[in-house]
Amino acid sequence: MARVIAICNQKGGVGKTTTSVNLGAYLAASGKKVLLIDFDPQANASSGVGLAKNADVKNIYHGVLAEAAPMELVRQTGVHRYEFIPAHPSLAGLTIELLQKPEREYYLHKFLDPFRYVYDYILIDLPPSVSLLTVNGLVAADEVLIPVQCEYYGLEGLSQLLETVDMINKNLGRNLKIAGAVITMYDAREHLSREVAKEVRRHFNGHVYDVEIPRSIALAEAPSFGKPVISYAPDTPGARAYERLAREVIAQEVRSREAVNEKIMEAPQAIATQVIAPIAPVVPTKPFRERTIPIRVVVAKTESIPAANGPKILYEHSV
Ligand code: ATP
Ligand code: MG
Repeated sequence: MARVIAICNQKGGVGKTTTSVNLGAYLAASGKKVLLIDFDPQANASSGVGLAKNADVKNIYHGVLAEAAPMELVRQTGVHRYEFIPAHPSLAGLTIELLQKPEREYYLHKFLDPFRYVYDYILIDLPPSVSLLTVNGLVAADEVLIPVQCEYYGLEGLSQLLETVDMINKNLGRNLKIAGAVITMYDAREHLSREVAKEVRRHFNGHVYDVEIPRSIALAEAPSFGKPVISYAPDTPGARAYERLAREVIAQEVRSREAVNEKIMEAPQAIATQVIAPIAPVVPTKPFRERTIPIRVVVAKTESIPAANGPKILYEHSV
């Protein structure tokens, strides 16, 4: 099942697209199958992985409105196991189109359903605003990754973003988590950069990736060649930083698996047993007390989540 991560910060120019494109490339290089969804009408992620600027091709707009089959929209990047669905400036009109529709916040979520079993990671590059597009992106995701630029106003608007995440969880029945904040355009020689990085770590209290993405010419140049930095200049500090970010993101998978295992060990009282059905018909050949009746017992621990989605089985054990 894919980990769906929205890359979000309503502030413009903080490194959302650079992070989406390059994190995706290094996740793929680490053996993961990755789909990048460009959900920003600026379509910078699409051109960053090689699509001609504003190319008039079927794109995520058509997918979300069911005007194209989902798989028909998937395109190859130049990196093995790394695919993308492009955006187009016309995506801006989607907000208007969805406005009158029921359940308008769930369109991208529904569109992604067939992909969740195909990819290990789905990254969604979001626009710099809190619009219906952003809400669709957050509702579709399991986690949000927040790039924070090392500049004086870098932390501005982050409280609003965290409130939006809370609101989505409370009102739209989601369980969106903060994967983490990532510090971008860091320059260790600048006092301001170091201060902002410190402030981000204090603000997010443990939810910040260790790596700081440095200001890097290679990262800034790579999109103009339509390439992620792994294909343009892999031996540069910016490239190595995104490689490290990918390792940290993958390490979270292991930690969350361990956490689930711990939960299972800790909470025997939460286990419910249920006799589902006899495996074979019971043939009454012996007196009742001596009879062996093969049964299948499913021991399941469930997590309570909103009724619309039904209970989520965390683990299941048959004997
Ligand atoms: P928007 O809000 O407009 O979607 P964004 O948050 O997606 O912007 P990017 O497009 O990734 O931000 O980056 C903004 C600009 O900064 C781009 O020109 C990009 O090439 C450059 N940039 C991003 N990260 C770095 C970096 N680490 N070093 C140098 N330049 C960078
Ligand atoms: Mg962008």
